[in-house]
Amino acid sequence: MSAFHDVLVIGGGGAGLRAAIAVAETNPRLRVAIVSKVYPMRSHTVSAEGGAAGVAAADDSLDEHAYDTVSGSDWLCDQDAVEAFVAEAPRELLRLEHWGCPWSRQPDGHTAVRAFGGMKKKRTWFAADRTGFHMLHTLFQTVLSFPEVVRYDEWYVTKLLVDNGRTYGVVAIELATGRTETITASAVIVCTGGCGRVYPFTTNANIKTGDGMALAYRAGAPLKDMEFVQYHPTGLPFTGILITEAARAEGGWLLNKDGYRYLQDYDLGIPEPTPVMRSMELGPRDRLSQAFVHEFDKGRTIDTPYGPIVHLDLRHLGAELIDAKLPFVRELCSQYQNIDPVTELVPVRPVVHYMMGGIHTDIHGATPIQGLYAAGEVACVSINGANRLGSNSLPECLVFGTRAGRAAAVFAGQYGGAIPPAILAQGRDEEDRLERELTRHAEEGRERIADIRTEMQTAMENGAGIYRDGDSLAKAADELQELRLRFADAAIDDHSRTFNTELVALLELSFMLDVAESIITCALQREESRGAHQRTDFPARDDERYLAHSLVHREPDRHGRRVQYLPVTITRWPPGERVYGR
Ligand SMILES: Cc1cc2nc3c(=O)[nH]c(=O)nc-3n(C[C@H](O)[C@H](O)[C@H](O)COP(=O)(O)OP(=O)(O)OC[C@H]3O[C@@H](n4cnc5c(N)ncnc54)[C@H](O)[C@@H]3O)c2cc1C
Repeated sequence: MSAFHDVLVIGGGGAGLRAAIAVAETNPRLRVAIVSKVYPMRSHTVSAEGGAAGVAAADDSLDEHAYDTVSGSDWLCDQDAVEAFVAEAPRELLRLEHWGCPWSRQPDGHTAVRAFGGMKKKRTWFAADRTGFHMLHTLFQTVLSFPEVVRYDEWYVTKLLVDNGRTYGVVAIELATGRTETITASAVIVCTGGCGRVYPFTTNANIKTGDGMALAYRAGAPLKDMEFVQYHPTGLPFTGILITEAARAEGGWLLNKDGYRYLQDYDLGIPEPTPVMRSMELGPRDRLSQAFVHEFDKGRTIDTPYGPIVHLDLRHLGAELIDAKLPFVRELCSQYQNIDPVTELVPVRPVVHYMMGGIHTDIHGATPIQGLYAAGEVACVSINGANRLGSNSLPECLVFGTRAGRAAAVFAGQYGGAIPPAILAQGRDEEDRLERELTRHAEEGRERIADIRTEMQTAMENGAGIYRDGDSLAKAADELQELRLRFADAAIDDHSRTFNTELVALLELSFMLDVAESIITCALQREESRGAHQRTDFPARDDERYLAHSLVHREPDRHGRRVQYLPVTITRWPPGERVYGR
């Protein structure tokens, strides 16, 4: 069976909803569809807490936001993309205000901004510490006002259909019934979010399995800068639930087992605190996570059944401030850790949080495949380079979701038309494959999905964690190869068609194995340390060889991969030392 839409958006998170609105606004005659494996309001964007950056204050400037982003990225971002981003972010945040987003306010009624890690000025807009929830709600209710946008809620995309270097749609499963369908389109925008679940300990929701990265990679689009995986310094042990950077922006401290603010012993690139970056705790995420590893090596962390931890101290902030600015932090600590941050220390440890890399796009969200666009965490434009600054991701979803939506609308308006028969044949093949996966029976001694997934996550943590080296990466590469062979022998017990979560887990694992391999491949090849990619065997940044994006291509003939390098675009800020606070 086949349905047609002019533009098909995969993903109902911040980027996907914003892209769909942009398509509808650009050309109201286009039929737009959003496919999402969960109900849109359950997308990971909903869990963002801290805020969204965009220049607002009179003492701030676009150049300063751009410079913080460029230096925070360790000069690996593309500066033309960053300049477009900082210019458009405030407009996008204001549009959300007009659509009803309840930004927190100053007493005089202006929208409030807070400090955030690596940002020298206060420019992070927030809605208490539930920013993502309010932004997603606002976008969702705005999408509802466009009747031309139809939704496939709880449909799971398994394949991108590409013929002759151009995409024409997808194959998806309706999870409620198990029905598969070929959904054709003139243009497709991938907005499927990140891939934190390839690691064992992450702030990312279960659904963040890198599906879109693998879909595009399999279809022939390269993935960019995959070796850059961000650890956030403060996750709750065991669950990995995030304690937002806003907690440190409001004045929280990090203490080791002796109650000592250990960050003062490390070079975080903050020579002298400014009124905004008033504390070392607001250093960039990569440096803070690395400092934790050094504290562990010195025996100054605290052992718990869920691994070593340090403490986040919010007690000196007082109940009034915590309730006004960090109510969700208090709620999370109480519900998941059974502690009250007003009177008790919060146990935290670094946790995989965000993927700087993703599908290679230009600044309009276009990929090398005609008609295929990507935006949000799944894409790599790149504004984040080797290390994303906190609160740049939500506005990235808005700015580049909009850009991708507009570009896709123009493409679909110009190049719509007949679907080649080869595409419909591909769709039928994929539907047959899914039927075979569903009916493949687990036999005695066959591989279990959960075992392979756990071993993959462990291999990634050991091989490509906060610090890596050639040996750890090569070992992880071997382990992943072995797991891929074992995966071929995996089957499922549940053969029903109604909400078959085991089938989805099988398909997600196959996507995650592709993503994991691309991370390891790029990390092995980059023989330098930059931002979140720290090689103990190559501890220095090497601009001579690696001031360049890595692009990993799938080579289907050899079941292998090929990495090439693409120069970074530098407009106004030549590479320098990463220093904050001056
Ligand atoms: C706990 C947490 C807190 C954060 N806090 C902040 C913050 O304060 N500020 C900030 O800037 N950033 C923050 N981030 C990062 C930011 O929230 C995300 O990068 C951003 O929301 C990603 O949005 P997205 O639209 O790209 O993807 P998501 O919101 O992850 O949406 C992905 C969508 O794709 C769909 N999808 C995926 N695969 C498939 C498939 N195979 N078939 C069909 N549909 C599919 C899903 O259903 C979903 O709708 C935070 C992240 C986390 C995890």
